[in-house]
Amino acid sequence: MKKIVNKILSSYIFLFAFIIGAILTSFFFTKLTEKKMKMEHLQNAKIIASSLNIDRLNTLTASLEDEGKKDYNRIKTQLKYIRKSLKNCKFVYLMRKKEDGKVVFLVDSQDIGTEDYAPPGLEYTEVPAEYMPAFNSKSEITVGPIEDRWGILITSLIPILDPNSNEQIAVLGMDHDASNWTQSLFINVLPTIAAILTLVIAIIILVIIQKNLKKIVSKKTIELYESREGIKATLHSIGDAVIATDTKGIVTNINPIAEKLTGYTSHEAIGKPVSTIFNIINSLNRTIAVNPINKVLETGETVGLANHTALLSKDGNEYQIADSGSPIKNNQGDITGVVLVFRDETQKYLKDKQVKESEEKFRSLAETTSVGILVYTDDKWVYANEATTKLTGYSISELKNMSFWEFVVPEFQQLVKERGAKKQNQEKAISRYEFQIITKYNEIKWVLLEGTSIIFEGKSSGLVSLIDITETKNYEKDLKSSKERYKVLFDQAADGIIICMPNGTIIDANSHIGEITGYRKDELLGNNISMIFPEQELKENPLQYSSVIAGNSVLRQRLIRSKDGELVEIEMNTRTTGEGRLQAYIRDISKRVNLENLRREKEIAQKSNKTKQQFLANMSHDMRTPLTGIIGFTEFLLRSNLSKNQLEYAAYIKESSEYLLNLVNDVLDISAIEEGKMQLNESTFSIMTTIQQQADYYSSKAKDKGVSVSLTIDDNFPEKIISDKNRFRQCLTNLLSNAVKYTHQGTISIVLEKLKQTEQHLVGKISVEDTGIGIDKLKFDQIFEVFSRIDDSNTRQTEGSGLGLAITKRIVELMKGEIGVESKKNIGSKFWFTFSARINTTPLDNLKDESSQKANIACNILLVEDIEVNQRIVDIMLSQEGCTIDIANNGIEALDMFQENKYDIILMDIMMPNMDGITTMKELRKRFTNIPPIIALSAHALEGDSEKYIKEGMDDYVEKPIDRGCLIKTIEKWVTSQE
Ligand code: ADP
Repeated sequence: MKKIVNKILSSYIFLFAFIIGAILTSFFFTKLTEKKMKMEHLQNAKIIASSLNIDRLNTLTASLEDEGKKDYNRIKTQLKYIRKSLKNCKFVYLMRKKEDGKVVFLVDSQDIGTEDYAPPGLEYTEVPAEYMPAFNSKSEITVGPIEDRWGILITSLIPILDPNSNEQIAVLGMDHDASNWTQSLFINVLPTIAAILTLVIAIIILVIIQKNLKKIVSKKTIELYESREGIKATLHSIGDAVIATDTKGIVTNINPIAEKLTGYTSHEAIGKPVSTIFNIINSLNRTIAVNPINKVLETGETVGLANHTALLSKDGNEYQIADSGSPIKNNQGDITGVVLVFRDETQKYLKDKQVKESEEKFRSLAETTSVGILVYTDDKWVYANEATTKLTGYSISELKNMSFWEFVVPEFQQLVKERGAKKQNQEKAISRYEFQIITKYNEIKWVLLEGTSIIFEGKSSGLVSLIDITETKNYEKDLKSSKERYKVLFDQAADGIIICMPNGTIIDANSHIGEITGYRKDELLGNNISMIFPEQELKENPLQYSSVIAGNSVLRQRLIRSKDGELVEIEMNTRTTGEGRLQAYIRDISKRVNLENLRREKEIAQKSNKTKQQFLANMSHDMRTPLTGIIGFTEFLLRSNLSKNQLEYAAYIKESSEYLLNLVNDVLDISAIEEGKMQLNESTFSIMTTIQQQADYYSSKAKDKGVSVSLTIDDNFPEKIISDKNRFRQCLTNLLSNAVKYTHQGTISIVLEKLKQTEQHLVGKISVEDTGIGIDKLKFDQIFEVFSRIDDSNTRQTEGSGLGLAITKRIVELMKGEIGVESKKNIGSKFWFTFSARINTTPLDNLKDESSQKANIACNILLVEDIEVNQRIVDIMLSQEGCTIDIANNGIEALDMFQENKYDIILMDIMMPNMDGITTMKELRKRFTNIPPIIALSAHALEGDSEKYIKEGMDDYVEKPIDRGCLIKTIEKWVTSQE
């Protein structure tokens, strides 16, 4: 450093000295130039002085006398001429030093009389001292520039000597104007100074350049030094081993790592052939590996080592190495050697080997697992196993071209990104989350992803396993919804539910339990279930209640005690769950018990009603059988020769019997109606004829009471309608019989109107208006009820069951009609009903009213009937019609008596001892092939009976008591059909 400083300092001193030298030189040159200029000036003056004629000068005396002298003038003219001819010459003059030492003018160049003219002999008083050497020592001198009253002048002084005596005769003075002296001097000096300056600048530049060069050189030198040191240090500290050789493969350098790996010290190695110390083999096949040096020398390029190269060291160690050889070149690019750089890769080699082995293991594992395994690198799937293709539907090659997100359902992509990012931050951590994927076939699947980072094929990658958890998810969903459903069921259950620990401690209860027990849920929780069992019950039925706590028991109709102390009838069902908990389902059955009681009562009532119906039906059978006999025989009596009184009695008997029969029929009808068994039997009939017959019948009765009956029929009313003639007639009969019954004077008007008609249907209205006792308005509804008779003094005198209007109302409703009454007490009543019927459009001539048909039924009949009265009546009725009657007293007899082709008709009673009618009919049909029509006769005249018998196998049915017309008509129907 000191050296450098000294160097720098010395270089600056040199420069300073040089500059001083340059200045001095310039000054010297200036002086020299000035001297030269003065010399020139002196030279000129000398020339002028030499041109002067000495002789003439000797003639001069240096006084005014000289003015007139020729020589003086000639010299003056010469001087004048010289002055003018010389540039800047201001004065040329001659002086002489007198003996007294004064200097006087001898001749000058100025014109006489001019301002500057110095006459001869004029003392030069102001002569400068610098002039004196010219006078005193005869020196030729140039002085100046001197400033005096004539300006700035430079003066050359030349002593003029007499050649003979060598005496000074005069001194020539020649003044030049020196006001531009410095300028002239400068002009003259300038090139020299410029040259010097240029030289100085050049030198300064050179010095600076030199300085810089030195600096650069020094810097480069330092750098080089440092670099050399660095290289040296690098070579020593570098992690790689380095061996340098010359072009012959002789080791020239080796660093410590190379020393360590080869086992040779640099001392041992340097100077040896590289193959001696760099002994390499192929670690797989153990053959000698090719040393790259020769190839480097050959090609001049860097050459790498083959894979699996191992270095065998001097001490027997083996190192897996990775290396390269590179040429060392000089400035000209010639190869001067080779450098081998190699490193110990043993650890990496082993690690790579392990990785490779583990990768192979991974692959074989991944290919056999059912879990989808994927590896992604840079957001691309780079590996996928077979299971993944099954899971996603994409082939492995398709997957490899897909980005990470492509099969993630969009709603889950954000989640997967976030979790993926989190994962990256956590490096080795395993991430685990669930999301949905969409398969190639647009199927949505739930998957569980487990991901971690791995090195795959040498790259940092993500390993992902995908497990299809769709089923689990569905199961969870089902489980969740079933739990929710369970909760809803639990809360909404109609039963109270208590859940207990195995010891009976209540841990949960639904809200309904509060309604049964009166305890709030929080009052039950923590208590034992036995708190709701009544002590008495526990005492009486300890086993039953303890079985509740044991679980899986059913308590039927037992009791619990509610919070307010009341006993509640319950049913309790307990079961133990898989977790050992007890679930008790408690149902409040007190209401049900009540309902059951009610139902039982109702059943009993219905049963008794049915029994009543059955009783009534049986009664009707039992009553109608004797009534049939009474009425039948009364008719015979009336037709026989009786006395007047006898006839009258017989007529009463018949009337009473008929009333009784009507009553029985009404009872049967109401029974049938209440059982819903009454049905309409439709047929075509003349409504007018029917009404006319009824009107005739009741007018004769009314006439007896002095009451007239009128009939008004709508002219446009269709004559033939299809409806149930008997039921229609029954309704009209009821109204007419009442009108006659409750009217004691005045009239009864029957009116038939047509309310509505279409092509096939009509709605008709029939009204029966009387002037009878009338009905209180308040009783209007009551009179249509069953067994309703208005408790009235007037009506009590009349007969009646209170069933007529009730039956009429039901029948009218069956005929899709309405019934109504308008009435005023003591003024009269008007009963009416409407009915729907179909219209029979068949021409009238083709129709014959059944009632007007003449019977022609003479045929052979087998009557099977056990009751003698009935046998007689039928016998008489049919004999009168020309029929031959054989009587069988029961079914067995009938079977014996029956002969094929003998009978045209069989009349079969249903209820008979030994063998009833149905069985007999079936036996006949079984035993014989040619069976005539079998007509059932039965007092079981409930609606539906006929259908029942026909269904059993009867051909027809006639109800008891037997109506003569009906019997004849039925027989005629079958006889005619056989013809
Ligand atoms: P009954 O068999 O008693 O006549 P109904 O059912 O036919 O039974 O009639 C019920 C009651 O209606 C009768 O008891 C009677 O009081 C009253 N009633 C019916 N028709 C008439 C009428 N035309 N005039 C006055 N009262 C009547």
